[in-house]
Amino acid sequence: MTEKQSDELLTVGVDLGGTKIEASVVDSTGNILTSHRCPTNPEKGPDGVITNIIECVKNCLGEISKPAPALGIGIAGQIEKDTGVVRFSPNLGWHDIPLRARLEEALQLPVIVTNDVRAATYGEWSYGAGQNVDDLICLFVGTGIGGSVVSGGKLLEGCRNSAGELGHITIVTNGRKCHCRNQGCLEAYAGGWAIGERAQEAARSDIKSGQPLITLAGSIEQITAATVTEAYKNGDLMAKQIVEETALYLAAGLVAVVNAFNPCLIVLGGGVIQGLPEYTPMAERIVRLHALETASEGLRIVTPALGNKAGVIGAAALARQNFQESKIVPGVETNTERTTGEKLEN
Ligand SMILES: [Zn+2]
Repeated sequence: MTEKQSDELLTVGVDLGGTKIEASVVDSTGNILTSHRCPTNPEKGPDGVITNIIECVKNCLGEISKPAPALGIGIAGQIEKDTGVVRFSPNLGWHDIPLRARLEEALQLPVIVTNDVRAATYGEWSYGAGQNVDDLICLFVGTGIGGSVVSGGKLLEGCRNSAGELGHITIVTNGRKCHCRNQGCLEAYAGGWAIGERAQEAARSDIKSGQPLITLAGSIEQITAATVTEAYKNGDLMAKQIVEETALYLAAGLVAVVNAFNPCLIVLGGGVIQGLPEYTPMAERIVRLHALETASEGLRIVTPALGNKAGVIGAAALARQNFQESKIVPGVETNTERTTGEKLEN
């Protein structure tokens, strides 16, 4: 990608996923000037992954003609806000990795580390589907379910920076075992991994009706959420039932979220929804019937506007906001009270 002209402050946004690292230089209007992708290689451990991040960022910085003096990185996991330590990232297998300190030392830039869904939410809020809305919720239904809440013009962080884990709202008491320590979470029913598990169970209990799913996947054990989507599109009855049940579970979670936060807007995205957009109207119909009237009046449910770029754009925007607020000298820690919840005003 070639560099476009911009007089504004540039920042770097990084989306650290389980399989790939994406780094982009972004201007203050949310435009991506240049991007690089590298494999994550989590099997090489934190040192190997951090080396890949640094290389990916340096590739980006080498392609722009003016400095990009701050970096934001989104990662799936729990982050200690004041230190940028990754407390736990299940898909990387990381515990207590001082990611901010490591990147600041190597790149000589102030770095802000945030949760990936929060970065994507900040991107959609600043430049995407959530522009000019002060009360919005992002819910991303992929393999897992991630969420983030903007309320009264503030991105909610919570007491220990873990607010917005909407995938782990309990929708069934003593329900299906979740990947967290709870049972009956929204994710344990409507997350991609759970849709796959439920479909495998359905096929196993009724092999005859499950045959189209089994044939598509190759075996019962290989049935995934994507198999269900494909079979649904082929008109398969078992897949149809699984999809309709999934929409009910999704709606149950959304009703709880709408009643709790009274958003004007829900941005509903992620691989499962992208694969089968029918989930949105199916769930929305139930939300409109079951959520409190006052909580759902004026509610809009929309798809993300920035697609899979929301994470890098949001991380870069968070870095810009943090940089402008704190005026940190690169490499020198001067500000321990970083406020990241307020939206950047352009
Ligand atoms: Zn859970």
